Amino acid sequence: MHEVSLCEGIVSIVLAAARANDFVRAKAIRLEIGPLSHVDERALRFAFPSVAHGTPAEGAELIIEVPPATAFCADCGETVTITERGGDCPSCGGGKLLVQSGGEMRVKDLEVA
Ligand SMILES: [Zn+2]
Repeated sequence: MHEVSLCEGIVSIVLAAARANDFVRAKAIRLEIGPLSHVDERALRFAFPSVAHGTPAEGAELIIEVPPATAFCADCGETVTITERGGDCPSCGGGKLLVQSGGEMRVKDLEVA
């Protein structure tokens, strides 16, 4: 399952941060999940506790933020906010959008106990 490997990625980031900053437990993990990333937030929350078990990420609250996705429109030259891939430019209605952001997931910051 896709979400399990994402959770493993999150846990390894927390682990590396725990080693580097000498903390034993993360209280909260703030994630940014791009609206185009196809990450299933519910599946992620469901998979997280078992992946985090026995690590500094165990019991941490997942705070999930969804930043707007942006694309550059080759027709009108505007950078626009989009909610899905393959749509038309909300500014001019053109179809030549180059997605710039919104497809990624990252750990933004950690709150440690
Ligand atoms: Zn446009």
